[in-house]
Amino acid sequence: MIEALYIEQTVFDHPRSKAIRSRFPQARVVKCQRYSEIFNPKAQNFRLQKQQPSLILAEKFKHFVLETPLSYNIGGQRNYYFSHMLNCIYDCRYCFLQGMYRSANYVVFVNYEAFDSAIEEVACQADEPAYFFSGYDCDSLALEPVTGFIKHILPLFRKLDNAWLELRTKSTQIRGLLEVEAMTNCIVAFSLSPSVLAEALEHKAPPLSNRLDALEKLQRAGWPIGLRFDPIIYCDNYQPLYDDFFEQVFARIDLQLLHSVSLGVFRLPQGFYRNMVKLYPEEKLFAGPLTVSQSMVSYEAALEREMLAFCRTKLLQLMPENKLFICYDND
Ligand code: SF4
Repeated sequence: MIEALYIEQTVFDHPRSKAIRSRFPQARVVKCQRYSEIFNPKAQNFRLQKQQPSLILAEKFKHFVLETPLSYNIGGQRNYYFSHMLNCIYDCRYCFLQGMYRSANYVVFVNYEAFDSAIEEVACQADEPAYFFSGYDCDSLALEPVTGFIKHILPLFRKLDNAWLELRTKSTQIRGLLEVEAMTNCIVAFSLSPSVLAEALEHKAPPLSNRLDALEKLQRAGWPIGLRFDPIIYCDNYQPLYDDFFEQVFARIDLQLLHSVSLGVFRLPQGFYRNMVKLYPEEKLFAGPLTVSQSMVSYEAALEREMLAFCRTKLLQLMPENKLFICYDND
């Protein structure tokens, strides 16, 4: 799976680097000074690199915990994200990472303990609960068998009674969660799309049916579940498509364990959108009824309102209103 492994000199002998390295005995190992030497150069093609990404092991020095955009919330006032990893093993055509980064290589920051300290510090800053989102620059669980990051971070959140953790994922790598006692302050949030759209756009990600199976297993084990319907994608028959899809999903949901549902339509910062069109000029998604407003590319305002209203009305037939959150991203 990994043919080349770049390891920063300062973490070359780190126990985590050694453990990860041992999983790829065939990989070519290259020492480097700083991960940015491999990750940031301009003359890289994300699409080509995505065919055979390398893994880079690095050390992170600052910005461990950052505030999320305003609309990125699930009921809390204090919202943060952190990224122990950059990039993703899946290849969703709408993913903003391919517009944001020049490289499709995976970066894993192996100094997990520095994330612990930063999270703990932020969590303890106020009495109000803090929400931490882990799946912002990667999928939270997809590479867990290699990184072991979630296994590392869960005990921290077990002792932080003023903090919530969201694991956002399309993955079925849930074994590590099923092996431990469920936590009331850790939400496993599945990003879901109708099968036909998942097959067309969410390349390499597990099919909807497998994600629903994983979700159901976690729910049975007592884990709070999140549903992330974001991005909602426009197509001519989006109404019956999403109508059936929401019914299909909620047939598997225990409303007692449903923590939150979030809903957002397809949207991207304009610069990312331009980069993505260059990478995939033939992609139909980018030829939809899109418009630019405040440097964001999204569906025309009337269509966006119509789609959100339709989905919201349908969802409220299936779930309570206080658990539904709409993401606008115009902040
Ligand atoms: S699963 Fe998420 S992070 Fe991974 S490619 Fe898809 S949208 Fe991007």
